[in-house]
Amino acid sequence: MPRYDVVVVGGGHNGLVAALTLALHGIRVALVEARDQLGGLSSDGLSLGVRYPRVAYALGLFPEDLARFLGIDLKNYTVLTDPSWVVVDSLSGETVFRWWLSRDALRREFVEKGLPESEAGMFVGLLESWRRCSGEIIFSIRPPSLEEASERLRRCGGEQLASAFYERFDKTLGRLLPRELWGLLTYPGYESEPGATSLLHLWNGGVWMQLPRGWAPLLLDLEEKAREHGVDVFRGLGPAVIRVKAGRVQGVEVGGKVLEAGRVVYSGSIVALPNALGDSRDVLGREVLSELDKISKTSIIADRVNVLTSCRPEPPYRAGGRPPLVEVWGRGYWFEAAYPTLHPEGLDELSGRHVVALTGLFDGAEAQEILSRAGVGCVDKVESIDRHVLAMEFLNPSGNPNHIPLNGGRILDKRPFEGWSDYTTPISGLYHGSASSHPGGQVSGVPGHNAAVRLLVDAGVKPRSPLARL
Ligand SMILES: Cc1cc2nc3c(=O)[nH]c(=O)nc-3n(C[C@H](O)[C@H](O)[C@H](O)COP(=O)(O)OP(=O)(O)OC[C@H]3O[C@@H](n4cnc5c(N)ncnc54)[C@H](O)[C@@H]3O)c2cc1C
Repeated sequence: MPRYDVVVVGGGHNGLVAALTLALHGIRVALVEARDQLGGLSSDGLSLGVRYPRVAYALGLFPEDLARFLGIDLKNYTVLTDPSWVVVDSLSGETVFRWWLSRDALRREFVEKGLPESEAGMFVGLLESWRRCSGEIIFSIRPPSLEEASERLRRCGGEQLASAFYERFDKTLGRLLPRELWGLLTYPGYESEPGATSLLHLWNGGVWMQLPRGWAPLLLDLEEKAREHGVDVFRGLGPAVIRVKAGRVQGVEVGGKVLEAGRVVYSGSIVALPNALGDSRDVLGREVLSELDKISKTSIIADRVNVLTSCRPEPPYRAGGRPPLVEVWGRGYWFEAAYPTLHPEGLDELSGRHVVALTGLFDGAEAQEILSRAGVGCVDKVESIDRHVLAMEFLNPSGNPNHIPLNGGRILDKRPFEGWSDYTTPISGLYHGSASSHPGGQVSGVPGHNAAVRLLVDAGVKPRSPLARL
């Protein structure tokens, strides 16, 4: 029976980051993924001869420092256009907004859109100070409360940053922007949440990069590094079951194998944790199970389709010949279009086909209208990534992009819920480190890193990661 120090259950990008972070400290780790592909929602697809990002399609929140610590260079996988994304009006085709890389150009764009100079400067300055000050909060293994976080931000970035984080969006960040531009920073329905719900998605200053060849090369490099550092990878054996005895983790059972370990990091969606605990699920207690049930009923916030086409797409905006991410705002719907194959690195010469990734709220709009606004014709195949696909193929039953939206107060010390935010659970030796954990969803690697750091501290190992905030 193989014995490990730690088994990481779930080989999404967070599971990979957790396993590698632990292995870099000499910990003997097994990584167990139910699917035969690592990467979870960031893994790629292959259809009609085209390889493409299947669910997640853009990289923004993976901190460069974290990538460096793990031994990878993000520039090897990404393409950065300037502007990095644009908003286009679906009816007129006019450009509503361009998100420029240079702070000065961004400030000018806001002025062009009607913001007074002082407010445009204030807003861009705010983004800069958030970027400078956010590390202490994002990498914290004991996430602070909203009040504590705001106080820390006050000391680092001043009163304005603290209140933009603490106060409701419509009272702070929303006041700096005209209402018709709120969609740049927040989703519909999030206006009465603290500004923190927006800022936690903006620690990159709002800059997004495309992955013409999807996440596969990045994931492969992480996997290779993990193996080099001794991680045993088990995949394609179906869902693992975490073994618990007398309130303590004993290891993991997968594909008829038992992997013994005194510590387990669970890196799937928190909603699927009861499944992963099998017969031991009741150890979680009635309150937690009912909280998880509530979360699982949270509705999906994005429609998602991949369109495979044999004609070259004509995006409604191009920057230097290459399309940035294009957001289309229409009456009742909005979506984001990514064109990985229109970047030279993403073109698949052999298949001669293109792929366009569409994500957003289609809100009943005609498929033809959505496709035409995205500039796509000659459709060979449309792949829908719906709730069912997310649940069945990716073991993500709530199907939400972030696993749990960063609203309803589920942020910081309340993510995924009170008492669990420090990456521990009531089961001794069981940790959680996925998009369901602080600081939240998207492909950032931070929850995986932080869960590993938390575990190291508990195991009496001094974390070497320069990013760790103990
Ligand atoms: C439509 C959509 C579009 C998105 N677009 C973007 C984007 O462009 N950019 C971005 O940054 N983010 C995007 N996101 C969000 C991003 O995909 C997720 O936040 C991120 O992938 C979560 O990573 P994770 O490692 O925490 O979990 P996941 O990627 O969900 O991986 C979890 C893994 O755990 C495995 N697992 C679960 N339970 C078990 C078990 N019991 N045994 C073994 N394995 C198990 C699953 O099979 C899965 O592979 C998008 C999400 C969606 C739904």
